[in-house]
Amino acid sequence: MGVIIGVDVGGTQIKLGLFSEEYALIKKWSCKTDLAESGRRIIPSAAEEIYRMLEENGIGREEVYGIGMGIPGPVDSEGYVRNCVNLHWNNFHVVREMKHFFPKAEIAAENDANAAAFGEYYRGAGRAFSSMMLVTLGTGVGGGIVLNGQILSGAHSIAGEIGHVTVYSDEESVCNCGNHGCVDQFASATGIVRYMKKLLAGTEADSMLRGLGKMTAKEICEAADKGDGLAVKCLDKCLGALGIGLGYFSHAFDPEVYVIGGGVSNAGKIIIESIEKEYCRHIRLAEKGAVFCIAELGNDAGITGAALLAGQKDGRALWRKELFMTK
Ligand SMILES: [Zn+2]
Repeated sequence: MGVIIGVDVGGTQIKLGLFSEEYALIKKWSCKTDLAESGRRIIPSAAEEIYRMLEENGIGREEVYGIGMGIPGPVDSEGYVRNCVNLHWNNFHVVREMKHFFPKAEIAAENDANAAAFGEYYRGAGRAFSSMMLVTLGTGVGGGIVLNGQILSGAHSIAGEIGHVTVYSDEESVCNCGNHGCVDQFASATGIVRYMKKLLAGTEADSMLRGLGKMTAKEICEAADKGDGLAVKCLDKCLGALGIGLGYFSHAFDPEVYVIGGGVSNAGKIIIESIEKEYCRHIRLAEKGAVFCIAELGNDAGITGAALLAGQKDGRALWRKELFMTK
């Protein structure tokens, strides 16, 4: 029997999953990301966590046949990371580093949004489709594309990076990338709150959100769901930014489905409605556009996709998705 490990490395915590050969999640846990020594401690501490969990479960280190990792930044096909701000990495070879600890295992590394997309494609909301794009709406906006069972990362690892596609070029405030009017400035949780505050400040109109000192994207979505006019206007503008962006993506590679994940997607249907409204206005032959749905794996998408990537690199079958179809 062999096992496979999925690791989702974030700027504040590392999520880990121990999977069976059939990719059933046996155990998941997390630990703090150790950013000391310019991020040099991250991989050793993740490896130690894996050693500890294997020991606790009576599994030998040699039984690990693959370790997959999702990294919050671009990773090339060899597992090389030129720069990853969140992990303080510069010119870092993440695959080689992990290989020291598991010399016999196949090691895979991918951008985290791509890894999550891979998970949703094989085991989540995308499993009935052959082409899919995952968009994650969290603090920022991320994206990953899977076509015919393979991640599309592109020549410069920026394929699917919808966050910094410009949609509202008349926007005056500057995005953290230096441009103006990016999808990220609107459709992220931070962007939704920012725009709602702007709306409230610019009008006397009634809203159940008025007078709240702090508000969250979740509260704004809930207010919109209850019919709050300003909140609906906010979502239409903010998620409309994503709808316009996805219109561009449809014209570029025409996927069958867009899967929407990340914290903001927990609001459900109301999110999809606001995205689709603008999307349909921005693609030709709207009735032939992509299907939209909410992600299914939640926080496990990253570890699941990472484990599947290691399995794929090891030449193991990921199984035909049809076997997992419930629709
Ligand atoms: Zn930007």
